[in-house]
Order: sequence, then structure tokens, then C-alpha cells
Amino acid sequence: FVFFSSDIEISRAQSPKAVDVLAKEIGLLTDEIEIYGQTKAKVRLSLLERLKDQPDGKYVLVAGITPTPLGEGKSTVTIGLVQALTAHLKINSFACLRQPSQGPTFGVKGGAAGGGYAQVIPMEEFNLHLTGDIHAITAANNLLAAAIDARILHENTQSDKALYNRLVPVVKGVRGFSSIQLARLRRLGINKTDPETLTEEEISRFVRLDIDPSTITWQRVVDTNDRFLRKITIGQANTEKGFVRQAQFDIAVASEIMAILALTTSLEDMKERLGKIVVANDKKGEPVTAEDLGVTGALAVLMKDAIKPTLMQTLEGTPVFVHAGPFANIAHGNSSILADKIALKLVGEKGFVVTEAGFGADIGMEKFFNIKCRASGLVPSVVVLVATVRALKMHGGGPSVSAGAPLKKEYTEENLQLVADGCCNLQKQIQITQLFGVPVVVALNVFNNSTDQISRYFFLISFDAVPCNHWSDGGRGAVKLAQAVEKAANQKSSFKYLYSLETIAQKVYGAEDIELSPAAQSQIDRYTRQGFGKLPICMAKTHLSLSHQPEKKGVPTGFILPISDVRASIGAGFIYPLVGTDRAYCPGQPVPCPPPYGEDPFPKPNLTL
Ligand code: ADP
Repeated sequence: FVFFSSDIEISRAQSPKAVDVLAKEIGLLTDEIEIYGQTKAKVRLSLLERLKDQPDGKYVLVAGITPTPLGEGKSTVTIGLVQALTAHLKINSFACLRQPSQGPTFGVKGGAAGGGYAQVIPMEEFNLHLTGDIHAITAANNLLAAAIDARILHENTQSDKALYNRLVPVVKGVRGFSSIQLARLRRLGINKTDPETLTEEEISRFVRLDIDPSTITWQRVVDTNDRFLRKITIGQANTEKGFVRQAQFDIAVASEIMAILALTTSLEDMKERLGKIVVANDKKGEPVTAEDLGVTGALAVLMKDAIKPTLMQTLEGTPVFVHAGPFANIAHGNSSILADKIALKLVGEKGFVVTEAGFGADIGMEKFFNIKCRASGLVPSVVVLVATVRALKMHGGGPSVSAGAPLKKEYTEENLQLVADGCCNLQKQIQITQLFGVPVVVALNVFNNSTDQISRYFFLISFDAVPCNHWSDGGRGAVKLAQAVEKAANQKSSFKYLYSLETIAQKVYGAEDIELSPAAQSQIDRYTRQGFGKLPICMAKTHLSLSHQPEKKGVPTGFILPISDVRASIGAGFIYPLVGTDRAYCPGQPVPCPPPYGEDPFPKPNLTL
């Protein structure tokens, strides 16, 4: 009988070193860190300037086979691997992880600090609040949401002149346009800088965004699974009479601002992306942006600290960056580019930066390559594909696995046939990795409570699968994996992007073709007309199957991939097709078109200047 401590017991039993000590060990200067408590510090972006001539280390992505709903241990492998590299092989390394959302943390899935003896500590600090980035995103997201409805209200209840006075205030006796307003005037073809010289017609064009309420896609957010906020009615106060509409709350990490944080490369770039967020269309069908609403500067200042990665440590005292955590369905699901860039400089040319992609390789890794690497320009050296006997058995025809239910006997007893049959999914995910031209190492995450003798699954040898015991043994249990990764990193990576919706559907998922619904086709036409047709594609697909049907395990074939709708995150810089015929697997995505204002119709303003 072996007794295993719980993750939280293991985390609490280890005293982390003071974060300033850790910062010094990894070469940070005193003025490059901002300490939050004893175990966390934000790292300033000025570091990138100081180390700009330093060559980057090797860039490793941990991805996985199609998982069971329980997760197959990608975070745990990521941490076990850096513990093995740094603490055991004495090679500088960094783990770059996503910050978990409070929703899953208090749900079935739990936190994301890894597990067993491969964890980030202190676990509570990692999983809850951290350094407030998700709170900053919530504040920025909701400020923008408030600006949309306030603007519609004001535009429909005030005269052009009153609106003009509100938007272009007199400060210290002088009326002046902000830089955002000057840019808007230029876009409208009004080349004037003195507010007193605008004609009535120009004032009218300038002040009216004319947002079509039925096209608003920007929602309010909260970092809690609060299901009763999924559909709400807003505008019910007496002062907002006539502006009632249906809206919704999404989970905070589903905000486009989170996707922007993860993809941004500098403060300037973040500001530009925030300004480009499209929140609705106007009544002529043109996009309305955060910049049009005049809130870009406010959003950027709310995010000024969130843009700095947070430094923490593993159980074995090795460095970790925690930064950004966008959803892997409606967004790209990877931690931040900035954390990776800083870490790649800090580890030095011979060092390793290990980061993780959400879900299976068909989704998380595909987005890591096609969206994150495209935005960063970084080239991955190696992919580690995590497999478990449990998930292989499921792909081989084992009964369904669900969170909270005890595992059936197929999973608790040895079953060579199921594992052998399930290797098709592993084989397919390896092939997907090879499509992108990156060397791959298979990590077999060994579960200690399982009765499977890994050595008896001899056919795994053909995949060069490296058994890993980091969960029970810490870095020591992943030394073989670290050695395999080091060896693979010396192979040439001939990395390339894969593109077009059809290519992803056919080459990655194995579909015969795609089928666009009329709604999807009309959205594609609209985005093309609005000038967004060339943006990368971020598929919103179930992670539980290579196909669009979660119950289809192994390697489904002969299916047509249905695209029910297409949405855009213009600030983050991608278009996201919704795969499948129902959208139940896609929490946090905007409702297609909130119904227009209910109850009272819009009062028709009949106001003269
Ligand atoms: P993923 O990142 O793939 O979703 P995680 O690394 O978060 O998966 O692991 C999911 C859960 O499984 C965590 O609670 C973790 O502690 C547990 N786990 C992972 N590997 C093992 C293992 N080898 N033995 C026991 N539990 C494990």
C-alpha cells in the first residue's frame, strides 16, 4: 500500500525561497522586479531591451494526445521537465504557464499548478488572484462594455451639440480634441484640429457612432462560473428607460482582452490591439471599435501592470513565469508571448523554455504554431506529446471517462488490446506535429495508482515513448524525458505554418471537407468586406475528439466538418469559426446577435441643435 499526499499537502510542505533570491539566481536586477508578497514578483519589460543581444534558448512546447475530460498531465509534465532540466541536469530552464481561471479552479477540473511532486508553489497563490491580472482584464473589459451602452443612450437622448460638448470638453478654458478624436476625424475625412471650426453637419457625423444594438458582440465578464448571469437583461433603471436589452456575462478569461494580453509583444502593441477591438457594427454595417468609443487609453492604463509576467517557482525551486490564460476554444489557449520572450533570453543559448498548449495537439498545438508563433516570430525546437495509458485505452474503445465518476474496470486493469488500438490517436497527433516540421518526443505520463505495467505495453517502444514519473518522484522522475528533449533539440526544426480553414480541417482533423452554414458564409463575406479576410484562423472546436463530435474517439474518418458560425477577435488578430452544429462545448462565446432592445422601442430623438 502506497500513501500519496494530496497536491495541496505537498505544496504546503515545501517552503518556497524568497522571490528576490530566486530573481537574483536567474540574473534579474533589483530594478527589474516588482515584488508582490514573498513568493511572487512581476518582471519589467525593460529586461528585453537589456538582453536584446543575448541569443535565445531552445523553445519547447508540451502538447498532448486527445485527452479524457480529466486531463492527461500536460501541466504536470511541463513542470516535471523543467525540474529535471534545471535541478537534475543543471541546464538553465524556465516553465511558462497560463494563469488559471477561478471558474475551472472551483469546478471539476481544479487548479492548474501541476500536481504531485511537479507543481508550482505556493499553489493557492498560483491559482487565486496571483498578481491581479485577471482582475485588471475584468475591469478593462467591463469599462468597454459600459462605454458601449452609455454611448448608445447618450446618442439617442441628446442633441448633436450636447453630445459634442460632452465628448470634447473644455479643459482649463480651452476646448480640444484628444489624439483618438483627431484620428477619428481624419477617418471621417474631416481634416480639422480646432473644435470651434466644425460645421453642424461635421459635428453630427463626428458624434454619432450609430451603433446597431443587435450587432453588439462585446459582453460583460466575471471570473466565476455564475450560470445565472449567462443571459441577463440590462437597462432596467428608470434613467435607462427604453434601452432594455438582453446581454450576458462570460467568464473573464474568455475576454478578447485576455487573448490580446497573451499575444502582445509590447505596451505600444497592446494599446494598438486594444483600440482595434470591434464591439459592434454601426447601422451601415461598418465595424465600431474601442478606439471609436474613445477608451483605448483607459483600457491600456488599466492593463499597464498586467502586461508584466509574474515570476514564481516549482517545488524544486526552479523559475516559472505565469502569464495570461486565454481559453483554448474561442481563443488560442496559450500563455503569453512576452513571458516566453523574456524567459528565452534569461535561460541563455543553451537553456530551455518549456511552455504548454491547451487541449490535444490538434487544437492547442495547431493554435500555438499558427497563431502564437506567427505573432511572436519565435521558432519552436521540440514538441513533447503527452500520452497516458488511460487516454490510449479510451481511444482504443474503452468506455467513456467522466469527471467525478469512478473509472471502469477497463481502466483499472491491464488491457493490452485497448492500449494497442488506442495508439492510432497518438500516431495521428505525431503526424500532425510532423506536418509543422518540428521534432517530437512522446512522454508517457505514468499514473501511480494504476496497475498497468508500462513495460508490458511493448508496442509503445515504436513511438520511443519515454515513461515519466515526475508526479511521484519530481524532477528525478523526468530525467529521461529531459535527456530525450535535449537530444531532439539538436535535430533541425524545419518549422512552417499551415494555413486555410480547409487545410486545418483536412490535414489536421482528418475531415473530408468543410460545410459552411449560411450564417457562417455571410459572416465570412462581411469580414472580407470589412477588410479582416486575411486574419489567421482560430478554430473553436471540441477538444474531446479530432472531429466535431466529442464521442468519436481514436482517429475519426469520413466526416464533413460543419462550421455553424464565424466570429472575429480583431484586436487579438484572429477570426474564429465555430465548429459543429451545437455550441454547447463553447462556454464564454458571445451570443450571436443579442435581440434588439425590448419592451420600449428606442425613443426617436427629435432634437435640434
Ligand atoms: P492537463 O494540463 O493535461 O490538463 P494536469 O497536468 O493539470 O493535466 O493534470 C490533471 C490532473 O491529473 C491533476 O490533478 C494532476 O495532479 C493529475 N495527474 C497528472 N499526472 C498524474 C500522475 N502521473 N499520477 C497521478 N495524478 C496525475
